[in-house]
Amino acid sequence: MENTPAISHRLHVRRGEIPAASTRAGRVYRGVAKSIPLKHVELGTFPIKRFRPLLDDDVWSDLETTLGRLAAAMRGHVVWNVNSTARGGGVAEMLASLIPYSRGAGIDERWAVIEGTPDFFEVTKRLHTFLHGVQPDGAALTEDDRREYEAAMARNSAALLEQIRPADIAILHDPQTAGLIPELRAHGVRTIWRSHIGVDEPNQLVRDAWGFLLPYIGRADAVVFSRQKHVWDGLERSRVEIIPPCIDPFATKNQDLTDESVSAILKAAKILPCKDGAATFKHHDRTRGRVARHARLDDATLPYEAQIVLQVSRWDRLKDPIGVMQGFAEHVAPRTDAWLVLAGPAATSVNDDPEQPEILHELAAQREGMPAALRERIVVAQLPMEDTDENAAIVNALQRRADVVVQKSIAEGFGLTVAEAMWKAKPVVAGRVGGIEDQLEHGKSGLLVDDPRDLPAFGDAVVSLLTDGMKAKTIGRAARRRVVRFFITPCHLVTQGRLLTDLVST
Ligand code: UDP
Repeated sequence: MENTPAISHRLHVRRGEIPAASTRAGRVYRGVAKSIPLKHVELGTFPIKRFRPLLDDDVWSDLETTLGRLAAAMRGHVVWNVNSTARGGGVAEMLASLIPYSRGAGIDERWAVIEGTPDFFEVTKRLHTFLHGVQPDGAALTEDDRREYEAAMARNSAALLEQIRPADIAILHDPQTAGLIPELRAHGVRTIWRSHIGVDEPNQLVRDAWGFLLPYIGRADAVVFSRQKHVWDGLERSRVEIIPPCIDPFATKNQDLTDESVSAILKAAKILPCKDGAATFKHHDRTRGRVARHARLDDATLPYEAQIVLQVSRWDRLKDPIGVMQGFAEHVAPRTDAWLVLAGPAATSVNDDPEQPEILHELAAQREGMPAALRERIVVAQLPMEDTDENAAIVNALQRRADVVVQKSIAEGFGLTVAEAMWKAKPVVAGRVGGIEDQLEHGKSGLLVDDPRDLPAFGDAVVSLLTDGMKAKTIGRAARRRVVRFFITPCHLVTQGRLLTDLVST
């Protein structure tokens, strides 16, 4: 999970609810503490009882009890989530799906979005890159950067403190909000910092970013990481919690679809051949949407009966779509009758990211160079992105139609696409990298390729599932059990709910 290109929930953003000046900030920072309008994302409520049929009795009772306790402990107080974007990115998508369930369970949970100047976002982008162990153009983190960062934090904490009260809880997401901790704490707000990014083996750049952020994070009441391997050195272990990301089984991307709906959606999107297809799907709030736009497949046609190997991802080198195509062409196609579908966002939707169109060109060139009989079994599908729910419905249908789902990433924090496929009981072949190693148990709930660049090993794993229906089914079923046990919304609500209750009771 990184920069998710789609969010599948409709958000309403309010702006400027907060009066424009505050005398309360500036205590911690040197920056000008003039408050600014914050965005508030308005969210409805979802009932947690939706999950009842999915959960064992003990897990359900745990969910009800934990959220009931938290609601009682927080009566009269608010759980605030603060991040830097209301749309786009996995974090926004996760908040949009999680918060309504807490609200449905009687917890007053809200979501505010900070503001920043281009210079501030320049600094936080650099921090983000450093935290991945990569140095952009020899850049460093300087004292000027700290001043810029702290000035933005002072303005935002002033705005937040117009609304956040002592004994409220603030969950601050990612480096963009870490600097709010000292000022919020100074006003009696309980603070949790949640990191959604990390690397397994930190280098000096990663440590430089830690050094920049530790003065703030060291003062949080609790710090949450997605994986044990992402926990920073120098943090008090008793204040660290691990909460993996999760998927919502009832989101448009994951909700159950009949085989007829799957076909109708794929036909309406012109991924399966059809003259004039029409298809509908349900939004998360149960209202109906329509698949009206078409995917771009260029000269390819996917036959109805094709056995399908699918990778869904942004056109990103770390997802290695070029390696997937080559691995399929050299090691899967000659041994099976399967087709490969590489699906991702339409090039027109990613103007701000020059790498994605570039990769699409490389894929087209690689495919062009193949003999016709092979080329026609490889489909590069650019999915319409204008309506995020329509896009999600197409992704859902593709994942449900696939026989084997692959995620041959070279690096991955947590593979949302892996969890989505597991939920759909699909056998997954993925690189043994990052969070995917926590998601799949090799040979049981998926197949892990030790070195994702090892194309013969990748091919063998895919072929073993395509040619052994029983193995594919057994692994798919185990994957579904595993995702329900560890990686769907209730798992997250319970772990976070316990953490928050502990925090207010101490
Ligand atoms: N996705 C999508 N439409 C696309 C391509 C990807 O909705 O055309 C979604 C995909 O289903 C998943 C997310 O984007 O929910 C990607 O998350 P993941 O953790 O796999 O990778 P990231 O892009 O965050 O690195």
